[in-house]
Amino acid sequence: MENKRNELSEKLLYAPKNGYDRLSAEEEKAMNAYCEDYKRFLDRGKTERLCVDYCIELAEARGFRAYEKGMKLTAGDKVYVNNRGKGIMLAVIGTEDLSHGANIGAAHTDAPRLDLKPRPLYEDAELTYFKTHHYGGIRKYQWVTVPLELHGVVVLSSGESVDVHIGGEADDPQFIINDLLPHLGREQGKKPLNEAIPSESLNILIGSKPLAGEECSDRFKLGVLQLLNGKYGITEEDLISAELEAVPAGKARDVGFDRSFITSYGHDDRVCAYAELAGIFAAERPKKTAVCIFADKEEIGSEGVSGMQSQAFDKFMGDLCEMQGVSLSECFAHSFCVSADVTAAYDPNFADVYDKRNAAFVNYGVGLCKYTGAGGKSGASDASAEVVGKLRGLLNDNGVFWQMAELGKTDAGGGGTVAQYMAKRNIDTIDAGVPVLSMHAPYETVAKLDCYMTYKCMKTVFEKA
Ligand code: MN
Ligand code: MN
Repeated sequence: MENKRNELSEKLLYAPKNGYDRLSAEEEKAMNAYCEDYKRFLDRGKTERLCVDYCIELAEARGFRAYEKGMKLTAGDKVYVNNRGKGIMLAVIGTEDLSHGANIGAAHTDAPRLDLKPRPLYEDAELTYFKTHHYGGIRKYQWVTVPLELHGVVVLSSGESVDVHIGGEADDPQFIINDLLPHLGREQGKKPLNEAIPSESLNILIGSKPLAGEECSDRFKLGVLQLLNGKYGITEEDLISAELEAVPAGKARDVGFDRSFITSYGHDDRVCAYAELAGIFAAERPKKTAVCIFADKEEIGSEGVSGMQSQAFDKFMGDLCEMQGVSLSECFAHSFCVSADVTAAYDPNFADVYDKRNAAFVNYGVGLCKYTGAGGKSGASDASAEVVGKLRGLLNDNGVFWQMAELGKTDAGGGGTVAQYMAKRNIDTIDAGVPVLSMHAPYETVAKLDCYMTYKCMKTVFEKA
């Protein structure tokens, strides 16, 4: 009787296992090597622009060339398109033509942060500050007293573009937003978490030394401007045509005595972007054309020319199709897309916002999301049973550890990805990605095993979907 029951349990019940109970020693070694490369990607790619730069460096070293319309491409050829320095698309031409569709991985490399306002610079009480406008969904109380780096570009009136990178090198200064001392925080402490730190108080401290020997107004502001002008040749007006992003300082680090986690700024969604990138690099002679896209602007609704709603993607795919005499709509209708984005990992400290039976767990592998959305799946692309079935089968057949993931319990909140914009193009699309702890915090945490399995998922999709 007991034996019979065990047999039936094994046959009928779905009982996912912790990845460490299934991972071979050889795979663990490969996982650790992969994660070292991923940490380098995080450290080099602190902004979407820096991600694009580093992607190009890595891609060119592997034989990818900048795509130009009219290029004659044959199976195995590798190309990329740089979308305005803020997004990138890569393709490996398949042995079948594009009428059979492409296998697409879509991730995003923008991350929540503090953007400088167009007129950021001011002084108050003889201290100098930058005003910020937060980009994406942040919990504002997390961003005070965290050392910040500043990265971006300033475009001068002449059209010349000046790169600004400060705070990343060991001897660079960094920046900080101050918080109230507990001694005087009695009233602030009574406020709801979301109101205790108002957006307009997220002002970055940048200086306190006045212009030497001058008794003029704005002398503290001038002190900073003089330094900026000396180093970058810019004036206050130039800051109007700038994109300067304040991001948490510091490098990606292993976490835990066992080093099983990585904590870093920007895992959402660089952890999936890197999985795609490494996946397309490793994919061997794909039958269908493999395409990676790293979109910008996902955190603010995928809008804008560098976002997933932009036709930049359709233009690139259209050009490839035209070269093969295939219609773009025919290609899309037969394509398969993994919208590779992170999901929430179950956190026992906040158990009440999850449905434990449907949550993603750390170390259980890549999380497949049938749907995202909020308030009754609103805004979700809701992958069909057929699409979920296809990916599940593929991962099972190729030794990829996976799990189903729902972002929190029903009506606890919700979120979205680029999936809906791919589905709108008539492309079968499913969300899949790494479960993350403290998503959107200055330092997010992921498990190495889940990073590695997401890479294996993407490689499998590019080779075999
Ligand atoms: Mn994301
Ligand atoms: Mn996000």
